Amino acid sequence: MNSVRNDHQRALDSLTGKTADMQALTTRLATINSGSFNADGVGRVADALADAFRPLADSVDMLETPPLRQLADDGSFVERPMGPTLIIRKRPHAARRVLLGGHLDTVFPEQSDFQTVEQQDDRLHGPGVADLKGGLVVMQHALMTLEQSADAESLGWTVVLNPDEEIGSMGSAPVLEREARQHDLGMIYEPSLPNGSLVAARKGSGNFQVLVRGRAAHAGREHHLGRNAIRALADATVAIDSLNGQRQGVTVNVGQVTGGGPVNIVPDLAILRLNVRLQLPDDQDWVSTELNRIIREIDGRDGIEASLHGGFTRPPKLRTAALESLIGSISECRDLLGMDFAWEDTGGCCDGNNLAAAGLPNVDNLGVVGSHIHSHREFMQISSFVPRAQLSALLLMRLASGDTPWPIKDTRP
Ligand SMILES: [Zn+2]
Repeated sequence: MNSVRNDHQRALDSLTGKTADMQALTTRLATINSGSFNADGVGRVADALADAFRPLADSVDMLETPPLRQLADDGSFVERPMGPTLIIRKRPHAARRVLLGGHLDTVFPEQSDFQTVEQQDDRLHGPGVADLKGGLVVMQHALMTLEQSADAESLGWTVVLNPDEEIGSMGSAPVLEREARQHDLGMIYEPSLPNGSLVAARKGSGNFQVLVRGRAAHAGREHHLGRNAIRALADATVAIDSLNGQRQGVTVNVGQVTGGGPVNIVPDLAILRLNVRLQLPDDQDWVSTELNRIIREIDGRDGIEASLHGGFTRPPKLRTAALESLIGSISECRDLLGMDFAWEDTGGCCDGNNLAAAGLPNVDNLGVVGSHIHSHREFMQISSFVPRAQLSALLLMRLASGDTPWPIKDTRP
C-alpha cells in the first residue's frame, strides 16, 4: 500500500492547524521549572499534564517515587526527594498495548537563569522545550488523533511520565521495567537529533563515585602521620582514565573531583565522580571488574579506605530483530507522509535503553526536532510539531488497524 487510507488521512488532517495549540501548551509546561531536584516543580508539570491527558484517558494516577540516595561532597549520603511518576491508561485490557513514555524533569535547576520561553521565527527557545516537553505535546496530539479513528478500540495504551530521567531514572526504573513487560511496543518522546534523524541503537551508561578516606594531620608538625586522600584518589583517577582505549566501544569519563580543604592540613577525604559508556551488555562485567580491581589496590594502602558507589543505570540498546521491524514500520509511515529523516546510532542514552533491556522494542526520540539541548541555547522547531505528531498518529492507527505488524518482543532474561 503506498497511500494513506482515507479514514486515517481524515484523522491526520485534523492535526493541521494545531501548531498554535501545541506551542501554547509547550510554553506553559516549559515555563514551570522542573529541574530533577525540584520535586514541587516536577509535581506541577505532572498536574498540568494530568489535566491535558484526562479527556483522553480511562485512568490517571500519580505514583510516589522513592528519594534518591546521593553521595554528598562531605562524604555523607543524603536523600533527595523526587517528584511523582504520572501513569495514564486507556483500554488496559486490550489485547495489544503501546507504552508511551517521557520525562517530567529537565536538567535546569530552580536556581538556573534559563527559565523563560521565547519565539524567534521558527524557533521556540526555552528550558526543556525540546527535551522533552514539546515531545509530550506531540504524544498527546498523536493520541488525540488515534482516538478519533475507528480502529482505536483494538489498541490499549499507557503513558508513563517519570520525574528523574535526567539523573538516570534510578527511582522510576522499577516502574519502567514493570510496564515494559506488560506492553507490546514502546514510543518515547525524546527530541530527534538536530538534523531530524531518529535513533536506532544507543550505548549503555553508568555513573560511579569513588570515595577515599585518609587521615588528617597538621601539614607542618605531623605531615608524616597524615594519609593523603587526594594522592590516593589521584592514583585511582589515573588508573581509571587509563581504561580508555582498552576495550572497543567503552569510554570512561572522569568528570568531577572534590576533596581537601585548608592547605596546611593533610586531606582526609576526596571524591571522584565518573561516567561510563558501553556498547555491549558484556562490557558491564569488564568495567565492573576493572573498577573493583583499581579500588581494591587503593583500599589496600596503609591508612587509606577506598570504596566504589553507584552503578550501571542504562544497559546498551541494540539493533535487535524486533527493533529493526519497528524501524521498518516507522519508515513506512515516514514515506507515506512524504517526510524525510534518517536513522542513526548514538552514544547518548535514555529510558529507551531501560525499556529495551526489559524486552520492549521501542523507538525513543519521536518528539520534536530540536537542538542545543542541556544548554541555555536549547530550542525546538515549531514547524516540527504537526509532522511529528502525524508520524506517531499514523503509526498508532496502522498498528490498531493491522496495516503494520506488531514487532515480536525480544526475549531476554
Ligand atoms: Zn530527555
